[in-house]
Amino acid sequence: MPYTPSSARYSEMEYRRCGNSGLKLPALSLGLWHNFGHVDVLENSRQILHDAFDAGVTHFDLANNYGPPPGSAEENFGKILLEDFRGYRDELIISTKAGYKMWEGPYGEWGSKKYLVSSLDQSLKRMNLDYVDIFYHHRPDPNTPLEESMAALDLIVRQGKALYVGLSNYEVPEATRAIQILKDLGTPCLIHQPKYSMFVRWVEDGLLDLLEKEGVGCIPFSPLAQGLLTNKYLKGIPEGSRAAKAHGFLKEEDITEEKLAQIKKLNELAEGRNQSLAQMALAWLLKDPRVTSVLIGASSPAQLADSLKGMKNTQFSSDELAQIETILQN
Ligand code: NDP
Repeated sequence: MPYTPSSARYSEMEYRRCGNSGLKLPALSLGLWHNFGHVDVLENSRQILHDAFDAGVTHFDLANNYGPPPGSAEENFGKILLEDFRGYRDELIISTKAGYKMWEGPYGEWGSKKYLVSSLDQSLKRMNLDYVDIFYHHRPDPNTPLEESMAALDLIVRQGKALYVGLSNYEVPEATRAIQILKDLGTPCLIHQPKYSMFVRWVEDGLLDLLEKEGVGCIPFSPLAQGLLTNKYLKGIPEGSRAAKAHGFLKEEDITEEKLAQIKKLNELAEGRNQSLAQMALAWLLKDPRVTSVLIGASSPAQLADSLKGMKNTQFSSDELAQIETILQN
């Protein structure tokens, strides 16, 4: 059966303006880091994408190296776009990135103009696209002048290969400079993609303030700490979970007794709010208006459905917020 998107797809989702730009993003966006590579089951990936779009998730986030093997998430996504989303390109915000190692030799990673331009050309071919909506520099490069990396982003926009550009994993000093350089070039930074969750809080020490001041959006990644901020690890490591997979980036040693004790208490608090822990962890990020969109991952349609309900109750009483802080500090 060919896929026909739900006619109700815009009825439930909240869309938030990205910084000072004209672009709105869904409160929850879907990332294809895990679960979309050649090692995964294509029909499962396809179903997750269908369900996401049906729920108003218009933004899909990729990178050159997502898989495994690297590049295969873009290939699978490109295949599914061609087969199922033909005719819907203008309803989608597709992002990709370059920065981590993608091919051998001195031009296959980091931040030179040579690498960034070549990598995006490869990504466009893999996804069967003429352009992406957002192209990110995936990580800062200490050995390439920031001016060169930012000039490459500006060039890519002027060539029509990306509509907007973003930064990822840039800390405050380098983000401050990069945002200024991009502004001077006439290609403002649209968005910053940092790691941010209840367990990883560095953005609260100046990054969120900077982004607000500069009118740049923020899209936190790994909001569930790769699955830790759910109830799934409370009774051991389930088969097929990210921590159980050889290629998963969550390692068994990340699941400490101390973390589990916190997760258990957070889970009880979430139950008191009639939410799953995943929903509460997402809502906790969405309570901040400086957060444009929260970038989730999902390994099944059921997880996606659960997480999507996280945008339903983003109000927290001061007592609940204090309880969360107490749990996280113990
Ligand atoms: P999450 O923290 O949302 O973790 C997703 C994982 O959590 C899923 O694969 C699943 O794990 C588990 N999970 C998700 N929803 C539920 C649920 N409702 N109940 C129980 N378990 C659940 O995000 P990711 O770490 O996947 O990151 C999201 C996206 O962010 C990536 O796809 C990518 O686009 C981006 N990213 C960007 C980075 C960067 O450097 N810019 C780095 C990392 C990510 P399981 O597989 O065990 O079922």
